Amino acid sequence: MSLTQNIIRPDILALSAYHVPDASGFVKLDAMENPYQLPADLRAELGRRLAEVAMNRYPIPSYTELKRRICERLGVPAGFDVVLGNGSDELITILSVACAKPGAKVLAPVPGFVMYEMSAKLAGLGFVGVPLKPDFALDLDAMLAAIAREKPAIVYLAYPNNPTANLFDEAAMVAILRAVGDSGIVVVDEAYQPFAQASFMPRLPEFSNLVVMRTVSKLGLAGIRLGYLSASPELLVEFEKVRPPYNVNVLTQAAAEFVLEHSDILDAQAAQLREERSRLAQALTATGAAEVFPSAANFLLIRLKTGKIGANDLFSALLKQKVLVKNVGKMHPLLENCLRVTVGTPEENRIFLDAFVASLAM
Ligand code: PMP
Repeated sequence: MSLTQNIIRPDILALSAYHVPDASGFVKLDAMENPYQLPADLRAELGRRLAEVAMNRYPIPSYTELKRRICERLGVPAGFDVVLGNGSDELITILSVACAKPGAKVLAPVPGFVMYEMSAKLAGLGFVGVPLKPDFALDLDAMLAAIAREKPAIVYLAYPNNPTANLFDEAAMVAILRAVGDSGIVVVDEAYQPFAQASFMPRLPEFSNLVVMRTVSKLGLAGIRLGYLSASPELLVEFEKVRPPYNVNVLTQAAAEFVLEHSDILDAQAAQLREERSRLAQALTATGAAEVFPSAANFLLIRLKTGKIGANDLFSALLKQKVLVKNVGKMHPLLENCLRVTVGTPEENRIFLDAFVASLAM
């Protein structure tokens, strides 16, 4: 046996690392980033702020000021606090570790965000995927049956869902919250909330098992890695025990505090992207080559129509034209012949559309 076979868990030996393609030189529409930077004057001011940061010191792990601004600016109800993460990816890991009793399970609709399953498996939890309906709505009967059968410790509902872009029915989500009751938490993952403008955050006081998770990534700050979640104080106390003490670094902390002073700019960018999303959807529909699914996020899921070019060939043709989108067809049978494209600037969207139309003729 080799060294790795001697020491690494067999399930990890069998995994592949999360793959992030190198997008240098590409129009990058694969990762749901906000295409806009902050205005130049604010970036200069931010630079001055960051120059003052004591990088020789560890962060103060209570993060009081940053949390205060998050709660105030990002809609956390009065009396509720947050736990911070190095991106919501880390928060998902914290939840998995906290709930990893022997035999515990994580349940989520599929297709969904891949990290729910990955993180569950890494922490030694079982994962149960419940297929969505063909129109990507929640299959409530199947969800309730799986919840009764599996008694999951964690249920994830991404609101809106990635990669299908839709908001699930609110009444169905409430039925799931009630059915799970005291036997588990229901994590409503609102990574795309700025583009959906719908939220379970105000309903936190109603459900003791509700956890609402957000990130600043899609808001325009993917590079600084900051996520946060809110839930009842009893739950937060336990999650805090798992959070690494200095997980949000001093530069991220200072940058986030600064940007939250100017959150109106992020709101305006999100509004612009919502408008751009409608224009892009209309233009793609007008090509006649793709079905565009309704989106409450900053990306569109499209299915190539049969008889035209398939998603794999279209993806390759776009790559040749230096446009990177996400080929999601292999993720799940419900996504057959589908691509996911992030809404970019008007210029990026035009380049993508031109490349899309050119690919149809190839
Ligand atoms: N949740 C969902 C539904 C996502 O799609 C993503 C990013 N793709 C994340 C969470 C991760 O966000 P972060 O950048 O905060 O780790």
